[in-house]
Amino acid sequence: MSKIELMSEDLANKIAAGEVVEKTMNVVKELVENAIDAKSTFIKIELVDSGVKEICVTDDGIGMDREDAVMAFSRHATSKLKTLEDLFNIESLGFRGEALPSIASVSKVNLKTSDGSIGTEVVINGGKIEEVSNSDLKQGTKITVKDLFYNTPVRLKYLKNLYIELANIVDYVNKMALSFPNIKFVLINNDKELLNTDGKGSLLKVINAIYGLDVTKKMIEIKGDNKDYYISGYISYPEVTRTNRNVITTLVNGRIIHNNDLVRTILDSYHTYIPESKYPIVVLNIEADPYLIDINIHPTKMDIKFSNFDNLKSLIIDVIGKKLESLTLIPTLEAKDKEGSSLNNNNDSINFKNIIDNYIDSKKNVTTYEKEYDKVEEMTLDFEIGEKSSNDEIEEPKEEEEEVEHERIKKMYPVGLVHGTYIIAENEDGMYVIDQHAANERINYEKYLKAMGTHDNKVIDLLIPIKIELPNSDYIIFKENMHLLEELNFTFEEFGINTILIRSHPYWLPTFNTEEAIRRIIEIIVSKESFDSYKFTEKVAITLACKMSIKANDHISLETMEYLLDTLRKTENPFTCPHGRPTIITYSNYELEKLFKRAMN
Ligand code: ZN
Ligand code: ZN
Repeated sequence: MSKIELMSEDLANKIAAGEVVEKTMNVVKELVENAIDAKSTFIKIELVDSGVKEICVTDDGIGMDREDAVMAFSRHATSKLKTLEDLFNIESLGFRGEALPSIASVSKVNLKTSDGSIGTEVVINGGKIEEVSNSDLKQGTKITVKDLFYNTPVRLKYLKNLYIELANIVDYVNKMALSFPNIKFVLINNDKELLNTDGKGSLLKVINAIYGLDVTKKMIEIKGDNKDYYISGYISYPEVTRTNRNVITTLVNGRIIHNNDLVRTILDSYHTYIPESKYPIVVLNIEADPYLIDINIHPTKMDIKFSNFDNLKSLIIDVIGKKLESLTLIPTLEAKDKEGSSLNNNNDSINFKNIIDNYIDSKKNVTTYEKEYDKVEEMTLDFEIGEKSSNDEIEEPKEEEEEVEHERIKKMYPVGLVHGTYIIAENEDGMYVIDQHAANERINYEKYLKAMGTHDNKVIDLLIPIKIELPNSDYIIFKENMHLLEELNFTFEEFGINTILIRSHPYWLPTFNTEEAIRRIIEIIVSKESFDSYKFTEKVAITLACKMSIKANDHISLETMEYLLDTLRKTENPFTCPHGRPTIITYSNYELEKLFKRAMN
């Protein structure tokens, strides 16, 4: 029996006039989604000139009988949509069937299809069926769309944007491959293979096919759940980032979703591990009871509403955060040779594929870098270069000293300083280069953040109150947000025109450059950025940390270096400064030997 039904004139017109065939990408999308709906395990997309000249999609799916094959191009045919409401209430991947007539009306289409019995070939030009005959195809569908928009004025417009069209198509097919690791996807443009996945169900292999081996080596598997959500997937080491947010792929119940809150949450969980305008490579699968989500489908993209987003958010931040906490994240400088670097490129030599397969298979057994560390314990608060001596009042109980120390980097021994900026250090594993400002900044940042979070009411009374006068425009904003300064435990009063008098400050504020530090905090308050109190606290911590840390060109002593390195090692994240820049890089012994040709390999 025929699977395709007729839909209303109204819907047909809406689609014909709408965005369904606006771009070659949408044609590819339609054809690929039809192939997925047809339960294909293999989908090949061949393009000529980004699809403007020709798009050919071949699959091994269930195919169509003759009646459906002809009906598919009738303007009113659809397999599942009958009313406009259906359009916004779609159950499976997307539109199906209803876009084919629109595509056929602006191109030359050849369809070969077989449901396993008799094969059918249909030829359509500009929407008119010209020929229906037998085809020798045994199973599946092969649809060729030529000269897209040949009979419309849009054609010229797209000829100018071939690269953008191709980039969109590649991105779309990549995402489908990530969504369906069990389907083999092949994408070819002008005889050049752009993607070739093996369809054997390994998400990591799909990631490899898309991003290459160097990235794949730096991907970490994650999973976790709570009562509402189950999440799984892969995240990249923080050193692997891109400037395009497209490298973050989120799927909800198997469907690609574009949702800003989700992207924000993922970035939040990488917080201070990566610089602000950079994006980690992430493939995140979210599984949820359908009643918790509300999917809204626009013709070109899908968005989603979660009824319990905070629950999902804390799960993602917890799972990614814990994973990052468990890793050693020092970028290693590698001695590159020509052979090594060629591994970056996707080429189809059999050797290369074998290397990847072996690598991925071996990776399943490797757990060294996934060693779990004990949960972060108390950090000492008595560190601040230049302020080292004045803290003997804080006495630590003996018990705490006996606990295993939280250390994410082995002990390093300073050797010297380069340009008064970079500490050179060593240990049995190799050589390290540490940015003294970034390292100090990380230490101070965690110290301030922790001190502010303890709600310890200890304050330091100022013998001479500090008077701070502000421009009147700033003063107005300050008055609106005064509570922020109160929450930080400052005592102050208004004093004359546009002036405040600080009488006491929290104990953690530096006792040198105090006025400068207070001015910085007030600057943040009047900066007109809107933030919640956590973001504010954090901003204060970052600003003070930067301000109070040793600068470049400061020739510190070997003892200070030693103290700095030892304290850095014990921070929660010793690998990046609060701005997400690296604090430390390393040459392993092996790399050094390789560079000096002591190790021939
Ligand atoms: Zn800084
Ligand atoms: Zn920094």
